[in-house]
Amino acid sequence: MGSSFPDVKTVVDEAFPHALSELCRLVRIPSVSWPSFGPENVVQSAQEIAQLAQGTGLFEKVEVLRSLTSDGETLGQPAVVARRNATAGMPTILLYAHHDVQPPGDSSLWLSSAFEPVERDGRLYGRGAADDKAGIMSHITALQLLPTIVDSLEVGIVLFIEGEEEFGSPSFDRFLVDHHDMLDADVIVVADSGNWDTTTPALTTSLRGNVTFQLTVRTLDHALHSGMFGGLVPDAFLALTKIVNSFYSESGTIAVTGLLHTAPETPEFSEERVREESGLLSHVTTIGEGSFLNRLWHQPSITITGLDMPDLAHASNTLIPSVTARVSVRVAPGQSAEEAFNAVSQHINQHAPFGVLAEFSEVRLGEPFTADATGWASRAYATALSEVWDTSPVEMGVGGSIPFINSFVSSFPDAQVLVTGVEDPDSRAHSPNESLHIDSYKKAIEAELRFLVTCNSFSN
Ligand SMILES: [Zn+2]
Repeated sequence: MGSSFPDVKTVVDEAFPHALSELCRLVRIPSVSWPSFGPENVVQSAQEIAQLAQGTGLFEKVEVLRSLTSDGETLGQPAVVARRNATAGMPTILLYAHHDVQPPGDSSLWLSSAFEPVERDGRLYGRGAADDKAGIMSHITALQLLPTIVDSLEVGIVLFIEGEEEFGSPSFDRFLVDHHDMLDADVIVVADSGNWDTTTPALTTSLRGNVTFQLTVRTLDHALHSGMFGGLVPDAFLALTKIVNSFYSESGTIAVTGLLHTAPETPEFSEERVREESGLLSHVTTIGEGSFLNRLWHQPSITITGLDMPDLAHASNTLIPSVTARVSVRVAPGQSAEEAFNAVSQHINQHAPFGVLAEFSEVRLGEPFTADATGWASRAYATALSEVWDTSPVEMGVGGSIPFINSFVSSFPDAQVLVTGVEDPDSRAHSPNESLHIDSYKKAIEAELRFLVTCNSFSN
């Protein structure tokens, strides 16, 4: 960085009021990607973002593009892709965020209107303020400021703002294939997660995978009078409960051989906070073993999320001949989803009682994710965050999955994937009264700008 250039903090301070008002402008567009919410809003937000990308003056090409969804017939929502090629030998950085938002939900639960951004107590309230329009504007603002900080821009940049993340990214996989050359990059920065809190930054370095399937258990070829046959032949629910019970040890730890459990160091997390955030009833205990965050981030879990059997209104004194459960398995980072499914299905076959044969259907595999924290880009981002926040970032795990990250990993296997974001524990993404911590937004811009400056002086 030459001495004739202003320092990063000063430029961000000066640009910030504009970055905040531009964010408000995007929040006012109700870009819900659900087909029933008016597709013209997602189209409009894509156009506005394309203009912002164009306005940075950095890109050779800015396009609003769509791909077909997996059904092969419907078009996905519009995404913005802008590309500037790198000077030979320099890396290309892809900056990802999404411009669609969750539906507002029950408007009576909002303290102010969902699509009219309002500032209260250092936070900006509005649907999409945090998830993920501040992610978009962190990218755009850092790009607007980059030329004022460096004398020659050599790093390659791809801006990729998706339009259907909240709707499950139905055309994403095909989009990555259709536009592979336009998106190709060495580093992928995903701004769609959050910080540890409003005083400690984070990089999201692991996500659990998710395997779901339907498990059907049959014991009889027709329903029987429970008085005539109960106690002599088993009903299907009895067989299912014995299987489900075998998943857990007495303490609630998963007892399935072959499912990976790991226990890296985790930050402190109090039982009080677990209770407060989960709504656990005061007389009910937590389950499992190890630190609380190990249980959430690095251990598997199995949950029955639905059951097909007669409901109470249709219950009669009969033995139920067959029952189907939907099973959701969270897979620890480090194990493949397929390996996890094999371990669980083998366990079920071994533990099915009374000679019952278990049947599996609708199997869906979502891979876990582990970032390579030792890659140069991760280290550079961690340094940038430390400089801005005055404290090192937490390497955060997330118990849930972000399916599109796996799509990036499989389409660009050599790229380093970094997961950052502007959310904090009070952001309430997807809920009424979603909000952005305004100072965290400013810090996100500053850290991203510092990171891009470092990338621009990259040397092999
Ligand atoms: Zn998001």
